[in-house]
Amino acid sequence: MKSKVRILHLEDSQDDCELIRHILVSEGIDCEMVLCDGRERFIEVLEEDDFDLIFADCTLPHFSGQHALAIARELAPGTPFIFVSGTIPEDSAIESLRAGATDYVLKDRLSRLGPAVRRALAEVEERNRNREMEQRLRQAQRLEAVGTLAGGIAHDFNNILTIIKGYTSLLPLECQQPEKVRSIAETIDRASLRGSELVNQLLAFARKSEGSFTSTALNHRVREVTSMLRPAMPQNVSFELQLAEELPEIHADPGQVERVLINLSTNARDAMPEGGKITFSTSVVRSSDMPMPTGLENEEYLCLRVTDTGFGMDEVTRQRIFEPFFTTKPRGKGTGLGMPVVYGLMQSHNGLIDVQSAPGQGTSISLYFPIPKEPMLHPVALTPESPESVEGTEAVLVVDDESDVRYFLEVILNSHGYYVLSARNAEHALEKLTDSRGHVELLFSDVGLPGMDGFELSRRAREIQPGLKTILCSGYSDASLKTKMAELDIDGFVAKPYDMNELLKAIRAILDKGKK
Ligand code: ADP
Ligand code: MG
Repeated sequence: MKSKVRILHLEDSQDDCELIRHILVSEGIDCEMVLCDGRERFIEVLEEDDFDLIFADCTLPHFSGQHALAIARELAPGTPFIFVSGTIPEDSAIESLRAGATDYVLKDRLSRLGPAVRRALAEVEERNRNREMEQRLRQAQRLEAVGTLAGGIAHDFNNILTIIKGYTSLLPLECQQPEKVRSIAETIDRASLRGSELVNQLLAFARKSEGSFTSTALNHRVREVTSMLRPAMPQNVSFELQLAEELPEIHADPGQVERVLINLSTNARDAMPEGGKITFSTSVVRSSDMPMPTGLENEEYLCLRVTDTGFGMDEVTRQRIFEPFFTTKPRGKGTGLGMPVVYGLMQSHNGLIDVQSAPGQGTSISLYFPIPKEPMLHPVALTPESPESVEGTEAVLVVDDESDVRYFLEVILNSHGYYVLSARNAEHALEKLTDSRGHVELLFSDVGLPGMDGFELSRRAREIQPGLKTILCSGYSDASLKTKMAELDIDGFVAKPYDMNELLKAIRAILDKGKK
């Protein structure tokens, strides 16, 4: 037991307080009492100080014990509260315990006080111990997840790099045979695509990818994704849509929502090797009807549910599905990132997830999205212009600190007719721009440069040459990047790793912007 027990005593009789202290001390409970006899003082002391226990008399001249209990639950919810009173009506005693009092002791039966105090303090200690254990467990689980994550990434990337490295070393051997060179290049391209898909899943999981939240019609997204997926599904897998009419729109990132629908559908398909049905349903539910506590009463959520008739999961699997890289699928088939991405999405959308599944009983995954109280503004959609030709003769200033990347850009742009100047950093680029005396029509720069970054470079470049068109590129595209680009009035953005066609289209479109 603690050396000195601090007790807040709500009591109007100084004598009673002394007596009680005396009894506790004689029971071997060393204590320090802080006496107060009114509402204001009670609140003041509770707000200022921490106590191990609260004693309260039921009937004070201007303050009731019940009232004090309510205040204590609010201000010091973890502190045991014991009524020590002359009289406690039977029904009010039960009512008090129900309202959160720890115990009650009558003043003419003070021999009960010592044991009551001991029990209350022991309970608190037990509760603290449990909390600590829980925290340690959670910490251990987190560490385990990080370990699994790192191991999984390493494994997948190694496979991808093995393909890229291996096929690259084949190139010089086969360079006399154009057909073989082409097929090698295709294999390398496919492997790179797998690499960037892995990165995308990881970024979505880390919630670092571009979160463009807008007013989203869930039914519309479900229809889009299902019609896109249908041809890719085996013949024996059918889709059913049960979409509630006139759903409110939610505040969401449509791209992420689609990714999640794809992940859930893929899992459902994998769980039905013999075929079956995937049902997509949407509905509005009240928080009181949801399977988990929401902490909010009478709140409405939009529920998106994906149900399959597959082989389901046992309890052990169900517990682990949100762990990154947890998979029960054979090597090369599962990445174990599908469900973590679903989890990440619901985190970033303040939503909740419920998983119902049992072996042989199919699986039903429900995603609950909060329904916004106020209508949202629809942002202006950027209509991507698709230029007819991707050729050009303009001068483009390319800035990247990786010489291999610069080389690639130079070759591609040259082969499409452009005149290319290149620079390895911002200072170098500004020099070249000054020397070119207005000939450069487009600045194409990486955001992450050593020293001055791409943003600062574009700002300075426009001081030298007002109105210079600018495209920035980066492997990282989060919302803050978007904001900054808008602030600086950057004309375009290209994500890394580059897709050659996208890149050429973007350059042509930006160069043509405003001309005609
Ligand atoms: P992956 O699909 O790559 O294995 P996920 O994170 O998408 O990774 O899923 C993790 C695991 O959860 C799966 O390997 C599977 O065991 C289980 N799982 C997920 N969805 C379902 C489902 N609909 N039916 C049965 N098992 C599922
Ligand atoms: Mg999956």
